[in-house]
Amino acid sequence: MKKYLADRTALIDSSGIRKVFNLAASMKDPINFSIGQPDFDVPDELKQVAIEAIKHGKNKYTITAGEPALCAKIADRITAQFGWKNPSVLVASGVSGALLLSFMSLINPGDEVIIPDPYFVMYKHLVNLLGGKCVFIDTYPDFGLHPEKIADKITNRTKLIVVNSPCNPTGAVYPQNELKALAEIAAKNDTLILSDEIYDKFCYDAPFPSIASIYPNTILMKGFSKSHAMTGWRLAYVATPQHLKPIVEEMIKIQQYTFVCAPTPFQQAALAALDYDVSDLIAGYKTKRDITYDGLKDKFELNKPAGAFYTFIKAPAGKGTEFVEKAIKNNVLIIPGCVFSEKDTHFRLCYTTTNDKIKKGVEILRKLA
Ligand code: PMP
Repeated sequence: MKKYLADRTALIDSSGIRKVFNLAASMKDPINFSIGQPDFDVPDELKQVAIEAIKHGKNKYTITAGEPALCAKIADRITAQFGWKNPSVLVASGVSGALLLSFMSLINPGDEVIIPDPYFVMYKHLVNLLGGKCVFIDTYPDFGLHPEKIADKITNRTKLIVVNSPCNPTGAVYPQNELKALAEIAAKNDTLILSDEIYDKFCYDAPFPSIASIYPNTILMKGFSKSHAMTGWRLAYVATPQHLKPIVEEMIKIQQYTFVCAPTPFQQAALAALDYDVSDLIAGYKTKRDITYDGLKDKFELNKPAGAFYTFIKAPAGKGTEFVEKAIKNNVLIIPGCVFSEKDTHFRLCYTTTNDKIKKGVEILRKLA
């Protein structure tokens, strides 16, 4: 088979999360803390918009950058929120699609991409696929942004710093002062920042601070997958200030030859989603965060997650993978930390299930601690 396969396929392996998720299929009614998607469904009102769009013929390609009305509305929001005048906008097939397009547009073989560790898995694999070099910043044990460590790792090959707040897998939300310190370092070195804000609505204790309001060389990504439970609808967007427009134009060019456009009927739903208030759903997630954290804090070493729907917990003894095996034998699905990290000391618990299941899972984990 090797003679058929491209060498780049050997640069990555298949997702460790999917492996655990597939395991779930063979288990009887597991407590599934493994995959990162909300347990609520797309709100009915938004489903109806998508259905009507399909019925009324919104089924053809849109222009590559996205439905003009949607792009315009996103641009207005960005201007209002960050003061960017006339921002460039691209509607993508999920933040995943946006990441692929941006990395393809920016990374040359040998270019370095700074990634705080633990990290969302896709960054590492996409950078590797493109022949780039991941430079990981160890953020254990508090999972802050550690701007001073990032400063130490910047070289003349640094292309990009990836910031993901609220963070998958740690649930950390980087505070304004850390973002400001990073912005100063990035400005000094004239480095781009890619800010993946897919969990921006899941912020439980204070309003979400975005680096986009501080640093102008930011490629901003936001999505509908998590906030509106549309993981299967593949909808997200990229925005940059006007002076970074050439980057977005390159992304659009690559979208022409790859995704072509984001799914048309769901772009109509995204227009409505921008006005849909999800705060009740988010309040339900705050409760889940509290049940999880309060249930585990005296038995495990973990930080109180301020956002997203994950908590990243130190395995009580031995490796993360060993503890995960033990948990799975006891019907609880969690993901080993090494899937998101160069270290194998922790595990990720995703609390997107019913409050009852969370309580049962917490009980089992406590017994295993
Ligand atoms: N970024 C982060 C941090 C994520 O956790 C995810 C999904 N797990 C994505 C991007 C991709 O999301 P989507 O492609 O569904 O928009």
